[in-house]
Amino acid sequence: MASPTVKLNSGHDMPLCGFGLWKVSNDTCADTVYNAIKAGYRLLDGACDYGNEKECGDGVARAIKDGLVKREELFIVSKLWQTFHDVDRVEPITRRQLADWQVDYFDLFLIHFPVALEYVDPSVRYPPGWHYDGDKEIRWSKTTNQETWGAMEGLVEKGLARSIGVSNYQAQTLYDTLKYAKIRPATLQIELHPYLQQAELVKLAKHEGIVVTAYSSFGPTGFIELDMDNAKTAAPLMEHDAIKAMATKHNKTPAQILLRWATQQGLAVIPKTGRPAVMLQNLDCFSFDLDEEDIKRIAKMELNLKFNKPTNYFPADNLWIFG
Ligand code: NAD
Repeated sequence: MASPTVKLNSGHDMPLCGFGLWKVSNDTCADTVYNAIKAGYRLLDGACDYGNEKECGDGVARAIKDGLVKREELFIVSKLWQTFHDVDRVEPITRRQLADWQVDYFDLFLIHFPVALEYVDPSVRYPPGWHYDGDKEIRWSKTTNQETWGAMEGLVEKGLARSIGVSNYQAQTLYDTLKYAKIRPATLQIELHPYLQQAELVKLAKHEGIVVTAYSSFGPTGFIELDMDNAKTAAPLMEHDAIKAMATKHNKTPAQILLRWATQQGLAVIPKTGRPAVMLQNLDCFSFDLDEEDIKRIAKMELNLKFNKPTNYFPADNLWIFG
């Protein structure tokens, strides 16, 4: 099974359904990546912060060696962590991440969050996480998003990234980027599910020719494993009566309904699972259409409920910015 693709403003084609790599443990990651490629996934969504890029690279290398896929058939996505926003840090860390993946270019490289943190040397701690001391202290860097974007553009000029984009940007940050970008962001990756539909931001991105990738399509499910309070108290989307009724009507699973709701809007999705049968199920989210009644019903499920906020993970007395 293969995912349809969407043409990015960079001219490259990106699969609409990819595979997410956050919270994939180091001991299972190489096999998970291998199995995902075997199931038909071509887009792999990684990040420095996920702490598993070496193992991702091992999985990719094995899949290429076994003849499952060629490098040029894959669409490898990674992200720049905040402690590497200073202009002179961007290229060296990208080269290190490429080495971990055992490839010489990323298909897409994203700014993970639009805030710069003070540099932490990878020999001290890698991935560095949010805290300067690895514990509680948040230290901001003075580097602006404009400066960091300029360094991201340098990655394209040097052939280290084919497309560049942003993640966790809201409208104002995006508008600002568009004022100075010589290379426009190809994609915007944001949390998006029926409890957080981001309708206006999606309209803005579409208007500007930027493809939106929806992450955490299953809402609270991906955050329960982190023991997050507001995920544990939210009604699971896959058990929501309306979603279950649509699954019965279309003879699909609730997960497929949630993924199709996004892909039918032209959004890319990057679900994650360790189970090969479920990998196949999630990739099969294009073979049917929700009807108007379904779409109207899901529109009513909006709660403006966001899970992936740093303040949901840890308290900090100088971190209020992700409201
Ligand atoms: P997700 O929404 O894909 O949910 C994962 C959970 O759902 C897992 O517990 C999995 O076992 C379960 N699941 C998956 N398919 C299922 C199915 N068909 N039926 C039943 N259960 C199923 O979770 P996520 O990991 O939060 O998000 C997906 C990806 O998005 C991440 O791996 C990462 O690549 C990306 N992401 C990016 C950011 C960012 O800041 N840019 C943040 C979060 C996630």
